[in-house]
Amino acid sequence: MPELPEVEVTRRSFAERIRGARILSATPGKPLRWPLGVAPEVLAGQTVREVGRRGKYLLLELDEGVLLMHLGMSGSLAFSPYPGAPGPHDHFDLVTTAGTLRLHDPRRFGAVVWSESQDVDPARKLLAGLGVEPLGEEFDPTRFHAGLKPRRAPIKQVLLAGDVVVGVGNIYASEALFLAGIRPTVRASRLSRIRSDRLHAAIRQVLARAVERGGSTLRDFSSATGDTGHFQLEVAVYARAAQPCHQCGTPIRLIRQGQRSTFFCPACQT
Ligand SMILES: [Zn+2]
Repeated sequence: MPELPEVEVTRRSFAERIRGARILSATPGKPLRWPLGVAPEVLAGQTVREVGRRGKYLLLELDEGVLLMHLGMSGSLAFSPYPGAPGPHDHFDLVTTAGTLRLHDPRRFGAVVWSESQDVDPARKLLAGLGVEPLGEEFDPTRFHAGLKPRRAPIKQVLLAGDVVVGVGNIYASEALFLAGIRPTVRASRLSRIRSDRLHAAIRQVLARAVERGGSTLRDFSSATGDTGHFQLEVAVYARAAQPCHQCGTPIRLIRQGQRSTFFCPACQT
């Protein structure tokens, strides 16, 4: 599943090129997770003003309204001046004067949704409940610790829930907790300010590094220009069950938490 760094890498790979381009046509393919919510013809003639991101949603701001794109479980976007005919798993083409933005999504859990603005439905509903952006300024240590205080669930699950801080998915939560030396099963409410600060810094570091590295290729990720990421070469614990910890040599342990795999070092993380 594309996580926040992959979505951000995707955004950066085409945002500048599509900015200011005029939409020539929008062509939906097979149904995606949610309906487009507007007649495709309405999009033609509009200019793409900016490409933003909130959590794992890309937000294409148009002259009228905003186009939300989500990659779901298996989606990827390609941006190309000469895209060729759509394949069987290509389910949305946004043809612009600068090139075509194409959603490829074999499992069709992704979505392209138009909304009049971010403050009204369907955008409001989709973006509601998202925590602060982990790479933004509003993600500060004091607020983070205060957000964890009332939560009695294990810290890993609180991170995945996305309402304290958004977009820290399974891979990055495991990696950040290792970096901070915190066991994923510790109750969020039990984290001291010092340990919470360490985790805050680790989350930023892991995500910023993943974006810098072009995302993860653990699930065949590639950006809209077709570049693959290299973050997978650097994982300390994720998908390394029974292999020696890089720091101490203890075998990495695999447990299940809320139906997700969690990897940690039983010696380095307490
Ligand atoms: Zn270790």
